[in-house]
Amino acid sequence: MSQKILKSIQNIPAEFSGNNTNLAIDTIAIDSRSLQNGPQTLFFALVGANNDAHRYIKDLIAIGVQNFVVTHIPEECEGKANFFVVENTLTALQQFAANYRSLFDFPIIGLTGSNGKTIVKEWLNFLLSPDYNIIRSPKSYNSQVGVPLSVIAINEQHNLGIFEAGISTHSEMEKLQKIIKPTIGILTNIGSAHDEGFINLENKVREKITLFENSEVVIYQKNEMVDSIIFSKAKTFTWSFDSQEADVFVYNATIKNDTTTIQYRYKGDSFELVIPFQDKASVENAISCLMVLLYFKYDEKTIQNRMELLYPVEMRLKVKNGINNCSIIDDSYSSDFQSLKIALDFLESQKQYKKKTVILSDIFQSGLSNDELYAKVSQLIVSNKIDRVIGIGETISAFEKKFANCITYKNTAEFISKFDDLNFANETILIKGARTFQFEEIVSLLEEKTHETVLEINLNAISHNLNFFKSKLKPNVKIMVMVKAFGYGNGGFEIAKLLEHHKVDYLGVAFADEGISLKSAGIHLPIMVLNPETTSFPAIIQHQLEPEIYSLKGLHAFLKIAEQKNLNQFPIHIKLDTGMHRLGFEDNTIDDLIATLKGNQTVKVKSILSHMATSDDLEYKDFAHSQIDLFEKLSSKLMAELQIKPLRHILNTSGISNFPNSQYDMARLGIGLYGVSNDAEEQKQLENVGTLKSVISQIRSIAAGESVGYGRRFIADKPTKIATIPIGYADGISRSWGNSTGFVTIKKSKASIVGSICMDMLMVDVTDIECAEGDQVIIFGESPTVTYMAQKLNTIPYEILTSISQRVKRVFYRE
Ligand SMILES: *Cc1c(COP(=O)(O)O)cnc(C)c1O
Repeated sequence: MSQKILKSIQNIPAEFSGNNTNLAIDTIAIDSRSLQNGPQTLFFALVGANNDAHRYIKDLIAIGVQNFVVTHIPEECEGKANFFVVENTLTALQQFAANYRSLFDFPIIGLTGSNGKTIVKEWLNFLLSPDYNIIRSPKSYNSQVGVPLSVIAINEQHNLGIFEAGISTHSEMEKLQKIIKPTIGILTNIGSAHDEGFINLENKVREKITLFENSEVVIYQKNEMVDSIIFSKAKTFTWSFDSQEADVFVYNATIKNDTTTIQYRYKGDSFELVIPFQDKASVENAISCLMVLLYFKYDEKTIQNRMELLYPVEMRLKVKNGINNCSIIDDSYSSDFQSLKIALDFLESQKQYKKKTVILSDIFQSGLSNDELYAKVSQLIVSNKIDRVIGIGETISAFEKKFANCITYKNTAEFISKFDDLNFANETILIKGARTFQFEEIVSLLEEKTHETVLEINLNAISHNLNFFKSKLKPNVKIMVMVKAFGYGNGGFEIAKLLEHHKVDYLGVAFADEGISLKSAGIHLPIMVLNPETTSFPAIIQHQLEPEIYSLKGLHAFLKIAEQKNLNQFPIHIKLDTGMHRLGFEDNTIDDLIATLKGNQTVKVKSILSHMATSDDLEYKDFAHSQIDLFEKLSSKLMAELQIKPLRHILNTSGISNFPNSQYDMARLGIGLYGVSNDAEEQKQLENVGTLKSVISQIRSIAAGESVGYGRRFIADKPTKIATIPIGYADGISRSWGNSTGFVTIKKSKASIVGSICMDMLMVDVTDIECAEGDQVIIFGESPTVTYMAQKLNTIPYEILTSISQRVKRVFYRE
């Protein structure tokens, strides 16, 4: 592989700087967190709107990475590694991938469309894998960055590729076309709405179809507009529900129980097949797959047999709570080398437990010999520092010796019979297996049985929101993120870990114990404690937390301990009260403060801060400015008299938005990170972080005149269908949200909460919603939003978020 990699890099216009021209490269990376093969890695330092990977280079060199594609050589790095200096690193990555792709010559299926790409790709992989060594894009890697990374994973043994391409604006597809160069094109559902970034639907379709520029055939659902665009460009192979002119005419799709029978006419004959789905999107996606099988000339029986086994595709990696204090990453539906890499990356990012276990089935379709494959897998396992490997399957058992600390079992049943001896506890476990191994049984053994109510936290949304606010800060203004109250109810450690990855400058917590638990869990960022009690000072010092000092009494108490412990320059933060009247030194205590600190060497004023009472309400703009003016005056005085240059900060989330001229040296981001703004326009640009979900426990029908719940506070005025949901005020749902004030979302429809909310349950009206027991219920998230709930309940989103009880499990995921 490395020869092809070299060839591909040599063909990009770059200026080389380095001493070692004898490059040995066998992996490409763009993410500094997940280097699977240090010295052999070529690292592309991508530059995003908010993240410039050049700043990781120094650290990467320190751990042995030797080859970089950069726009400039970072300070102090010259001569310490090999650099390919290019104009634009993303363009270079794309050129590299295009060069690499052109060294292979086998059929490649390219998919695009508004919906269904990933599912069709996964299903095609499943349907065709008995006969081909398939390389496919992992998960939904379909972007300007994801596509090149997917294509780079092709190797000599593959003989079929399936890649998806997604675009959000003009002229992006042209680049992806050059990288994928599909020989067979599939246009999945084109959607109806015209997406942002395109003038209209036709414009969007035109752009998408660019992917098929040189394809030998394009498969799509017959449609006049698409016909007219594609006409004369390529050979087409079409299907339709209503036009007999299509190559495949689907004249009937009948739903029965959980299946759909699809009847179609092809080349004059009629056929039928059954798929285990009944929704329209799945039927369309299955037909897209059928078209490929027909194009590949599969016979009727094979098509029927394989399509019958289609399965739901889980699109994201989820962390679940496991038994005995374990965390579980459930990726139990696929096992191929590429997705193993991604899953191991994800495992790497979970730092909660030191110990890591991987349960892995035989791996299929790597395109490599088993010898090479398991050697590579073992290398991955070593570089990801996995403590134990549990292999399940005949093949992996045969290669057990390639791994250190590996136990193997011939099949899942054998593993399950030995389950009790394996002592799973206090570790993170990745469960990764091909479908045939039915690892879902392992997941259900390891998963902690909890209530069905969970708060799902979208880590991508947190990153997005962080970047959004960072982009509002001037260069060099630092950011402190407030993770007090368990990350505003969203989860302390996991969010802190993500923030550490994003290199925020500071974390802020309310009390010492919150900071201690973050430090003990391995967070290295400096942490400021807003409200340190005198009794917690020794613990603060022991755990290297940084106290906010807000009174002379507190300062004296801290100095006394600091002197006893012989501290030198211990960081403290001085809080000024400029009008909030909560905590802080006031104007009349500043002189005493200065006198106490003057010449003192035990502590060092790391920062001076104040907090605004009205940064969110422009009606009080004058008051806000008076606070800022007083802050300027008092902090300047402190700085001048003590001759110090600490960081100064006064803005919280809405301060960042409303007072951009008062950023000083740092801003303190809180609620905005969690996706809430009090400005409607800004709200649109944030992503929803938390979704509180539950399920329907029971459904019943009641007659007019019957009542629901305590005190008969709801009386039905007509026959009514009632669903009961296992979440109540003990979980943090305000009782005032009941009695038809609030609603939940079931199957995208609003269901009004009827009667009083109970301690552990609530009831909703589902008369007009087609739903069943066990169906998912959204308590808040996209709808209703916490902002909406807060308005209705006369409170603020902060209270809604932080009220969610700790008995509700938090589940974190990345898209
Ligand atoms: C909570 C808090 C913040 C963050 O406020 P948001 O409105 O959530 O951004 C900033 N500074 C102090 C002192 C805080 O207590």
